Amino acid sequence: MENHAKFKPRKSGAKQFNPHKKSDLMYSSKEWVEYRKIFLEINPLCYSCGISATAVDHVVPHKGNVALFEKLDNHIPLCTRCHNTCTALFDRHAIPKTQEKLVWLQKNRELKDVRIRIKVLSKYK
Ligand SMILES: [Zn+2]
Repeated sequence: MENHAKFKPRKSGAKQFNPHKKSDLMYSSKEWVEYRKIFLEINPLCYSCGISATAVDHVVPHKGNVALFEKLDNHIPLCTRCHNTCTALFDRHAIPKTQEKLVWLQKNRELKDVRIRIKVLSKYK
């Protein structure tokens, strides 16, 4: 089995951790936890509405795909509300509605006059 992941899975982790679920392994990895922390430190504001960000969202939902999970330009900082909205409206579909999500994000940014550029962590390149 291939293991090219930058964010290596570990065997145990957070509450309700499901060792049989690939995305649980990915989110609970030491590397992801560290990356997420630093990403939110250098990108502290929600890309969509400009308030304090709490989540690293995958623009294109990874659905367990390691390459999409790790792809640096697939990460945006979102607040809890925007993240929940995007996940519910656009990500949780058999075929994710990524284009609709991008339109929603752009419209919300214009509405809130948000002018944030996402900074990518160079050490992960
Ligand atoms: Zn937001």
